[in-house]
Amino acid sequence: MAINIIRFLKIALLFLCIQANGQVKPWSENLITIPEKSNYQKTSTYADVMHFIEAIKSKSDLVHLEFMGKSKEGKDIPLIIMANPKISSPKEAKDSGKPIMYVQGNIHAGEVEGKEVLQQLMRDILLGKKKHLLDNQIIIFAPIYNTDSNDKMKKGRRPSQEDSPVEVGIRANSQGLDLNRDGIKMEAFETQGLIQNVLLKWDPEMLVDLHTTNGTWHGYGVTYAPSYHYAGEKAPYDFTWNTMLPSIVKSIDKNYGVKLGPYGGYSLRQGWPTKAIYTYNHHPRYIVNQMGLRNKVGILSEAFAHDRFYKRMDSTYGFVAEILEFTNINGRKMAAINAKAEQDAIANVKQNAGKIKKGVRYKMVPLEEKFTLRTYDYLPFVNEEGYTKHIRSGKIIEIPNVENYSKFEAKVSSTLPRGYFLPKAMKQIADHLKKQGVEVIELKKSKRAVGEVFVVKSLKNASRKFEGHYMAILEGEFVPKTRTFKKGDYWVDMAQPLSNLIFYMLEPQSDDGLVTWNFFDAYFKNKGISEKPVIYPVFKYYKLK
Ligand SMILES: [Zn+2]
Repeated sequence: MAINIIRFLKIALLFLCIQANGQVKPWSENLITIPEKSNYQKTSTYADVMHFIEAIKSKSDLVHLEFMGKSKEGKDIPLIIMANPKISSPKEAKDSGKPIMYVQGNIHAGEVEGKEVLQQLMRDILLGKKKHLLDNQIIIFAPIYNTDSNDKMKKGRRPSQEDSPVEVGIRANSQGLDLNRDGIKMEAFETQGLIQNVLLKWDPEMLVDLHTTNGTWHGYGVTYAPSYHYAGEKAPYDFTWNTMLPSIVKSIDKNYGVKLGPYGGYSLRQGWPTKAIYTYNHHPRYIVNQMGLRNKVGILSEAFAHDRFYKRMDSTYGFVAEILEFTNINGRKMAAINAKAEQDAIANVKQNAGKIKKGVRYKMVPLEEKFTLRTYDYLPFVNEEGYTKHIRSGKIIEIPNVENYSKFEAKVSSTLPRGYFLPKAMKQIADHLKKQGVEVIELKKSKRAVGEVFVVKSLKNASRKFEGHYMAILEGEFVPKTRTFKKGDYWVDMAQPLSNLIFYMLEPQSDDGLVTWNFFDAYFKNKGISEKPVIYPVFKYYKLK
């Protein structure tokens, strides 16, 4: 009995201490998110998110709200800019000297953890225990990137999530486009908003894209991938992969008890225990990969689909919080690495144009170092037809020496040019490059340049439609040529910050360039490509005459 009384007093004292520290100060009801209110049965609608943002705004003077654009259905896509003191414009941000970190949720509107977690984090950063995250950085959140499809909720949309929450929205946006395949072609309203009004306007050092996986029963709460940008500068990748992510793997385990591992899946057809995991790919159509070509840091976050919703939210919260803890300390260093990458990209063009080759088509290979994979165990058995099958167990095991296929090696390379010329008739291409942030100059007088034309021998279109496109591949060869361009033609000098992205978009053999997405199909067909070779209309030059 006496012991019980002492225990009671201890607990009561602890409670009083917590109260005195202000740690459990109650939130007002409008600051409780929809999942929290519904025992994690529900996810928030667009209107819920907007109400939450309004509630936060009415209580904090450190937040500035703007919109990155409108969805097809006319919804404003909110962008929450958090800074201490408050910042309302990119100029103020620049003057403050603080680096900007950007995190977005709900790119796929069935994967809703990011949307909820960014609301919780807004609450904790602006009004709660995470205020210190604004000491050295500016944080921008886009909690509900895919607004329209979020609200088209239905049960059974994502079977791997086991109806937790019960109803979620649709993956594609309301134009039927996957927003995470749109980074090069920019057909979605959302992508245009992201590139124009976030990346180009605010110039964040880092983009974090929040998702939920679809399948593999690995043993991690969240998996990550850096920007796979093998045509870009290596330093931001090295920093992310060798310094940042290993540090967060440790801190998230310590502070949240969440296991964090590399993104990837395995195939049971290759036997068990598995010997390798495979990531997705390097294409800059994925916004995280494109960040590398923009000399910035990109991080993909994938919550483990099979965990219950509250668990997935907790793991995602831990990952985003620990990323922001890291950047709060190391953000300036990250910004310096990114700035140097930009200078290196420009210097590389100035020094090496016409001399070196860079990859335009890639294949996936394993990293040099193997790793220990955490995963659910499988039990192989031979079925009645004599085939080996696998049954998943409930036990998590560790498999040592697993190969990690998350490196990309060039299989086709092309000479780095000093720049490109486009004829006046290619206005649509010039405009598209400008929308991506590329500086394109309209010639006021003639320029003559030494370079190469690409003689296209064949244009092949995929037999199946992907994202509304029969994707194109050109085969042909480069032939030396000197050409003159006239007033009104377009000139792209590669000595500019986005040179790596320009190269990937304009090289005729690129596996994710403007050719890939059919920007030149009509031109080639008009010129009779099925009967005779046609010259690719973008001229690449090594030297001005
Ligand atoms: Zn996704």
